[in-house]
Amino acid sequence: MPLTIAEYWHRGYPLALMLDYDGTLTPIVADPTQAFLPPAGLELLRQVCRHPQIHVAIVSGRSLPQLLHFCRELTAEALILCGLHGGEIYQLPEHRFLRQPEREQLLGQLQPIRDMVLEELNRCNWFDAGVRVEDKTYSIAVHYRHVSPESKPLVIELLQGLFRNHSALCAPFKLQAGKEVLEILPRTFDKGDCVAFLWDFWQVVQGCYIGDDLTDEAAFAVVNQRGGLSIAVGKTPGTTAAQVICPEVADVYRELVALGS
Ligand SMILES: [Mg+2]
Repeated sequence: MPLTIAEYWHRGYPLALMLDYDGTLTPIVADPTQAFLPPAGLELLRQVCRHPQIHVAIVSGRSLPQLLHFCRELTAEALILCGLHGGEIYQLPEHRFLRQPEREQLLGQLQPIRDMVLEELNRCNWFDAGVRVEDKTYSIAVHYRHVSPESKPLVIELLQGLFRNHSALCAPFKLQAGKEVLEILPRTFDKGDCVAFLWDFWQVVQGCYIGDDLTDEAAFAVVNQRGGLSIAVGKTPGTTAAQVICPEVADVYRELVALGS
């Protein structure tokens, strides 16, 4: 089994390179608004975007406006940004949606759930205990990174309970677990589905996906199915479907350096 993308890739054929953002291209930081690409990483990404044989996409749970903000120095490059786990897919440099959520319908369905979740978190004083809610327009992320360790399961139980007790209302959505976060996300938004879309869009036979989170497991599964290379960052063996594990973000950039040569 190849251990690096450079070993996996038969040059001469185009390669799909699909990268998660947080924890993959940037280290996880305490303040998620500060997760900027390191300058050297930005330059490396620019180089792979310009490689005539490599198609590049960033596949993230972040919303598209956030991704555009962090990648604003790459908007002139051939790069596809996939926000909300693939719910929104946006092609640069054309600034064109390849996939867009059903806006009115989803917003209408999400509103009562948002109200219910905020009310319940407020009623139980979870905001004082460190819970932070991120409104991502089509989804709601409930972050519990700053909650005391013994209370974290209680936050999870509260949200699971709301979903169980209001199953009809919540039916269009799923409760998706990430790193210290539970996200209320449209059922159809899925990184595995996003990878399948990109693979077909580019019509490639070779592809690599790199990610670090639970939500990346769906992407690893699709890449494995299609004969691609899946790389997990910072995971323990046995906890991931990825074929290769690399310890840290710096290793991802080492992979990109090897591709450029
Ligand atoms: Mg990540």
